[in-house]
Amino acid sequence: MRSDHPHATTPPDPPDIGDHLALDLLNTEARGRDGIVDHWRTEDDVLRWLARHEVVPPSPAGRAPHDLLARARTLRTHARDLIAGRKASETGEIGDIGPLNGYLRAYATAPELSRDDSGRLRLIRVAETDATASLLGPVAEAVADLLVAGDFALVRQCEHPDCILWFYDRTKSHRRRWCSMAQCGNRQKAARFRRQKKENEDR
Ligand SMILES: [Zn+2]
Repeated sequence: MRSDHPHATTPPDPPDIGDHLALDLLNTEARGRDGIVDHWRTEDDVLRWLARHEVVPPSPAGRAPHDLLARARTLRTHARDLIAGRKASETGEIGDIGPLNGYLRAYATAPELSRDDSGRLRLIRVAETDATASLLGPVAEAVADLLVAGDFALVRQCEHPDCILWFYDRTKSHRRRWCSMAQCGNRQKAARFRRQKKENEDR
């Protein structure tokens, strides 16, 4: 378990606790001691995150496109509006889907036959658009997929009041409450223990 959340000043990598690419996207912003920490500060941060989530190969060739950071952050803002809005809405209504559709439309792919390592034929899809649209397309698709097919009873935000991380509860009992037990679960338990101790002392 990482020890850099949520009170680190220079977190190296965002915590991957979302259990869904769209929620890990939101989790690239976390709450730190001095407010919101953005784990994406450079184009390379975004590229590294994409590689960790297998959107691109482990060591992507070439440099990150110059507009990757700005467009990734804008996608994240739209995703947050839509996902948080959908979570808060009792009727399933969400905000403007236009901007997300822009990212989806920009991600044009074509089917292509290729051979795998053992020479077997396989059908893959190859991006046909500019580099940034191709990099962010699968992430936009994950957001759209969550909105369409996700069970929003299981899409939750960590219950710790100082934490803003999201996760998809895939536990069997569907009773996950924390981004991680090691961090927020134990912090909350300790706070409750202190409160009870104080109440006993005040009696
Ligand atoms: Zn948390």
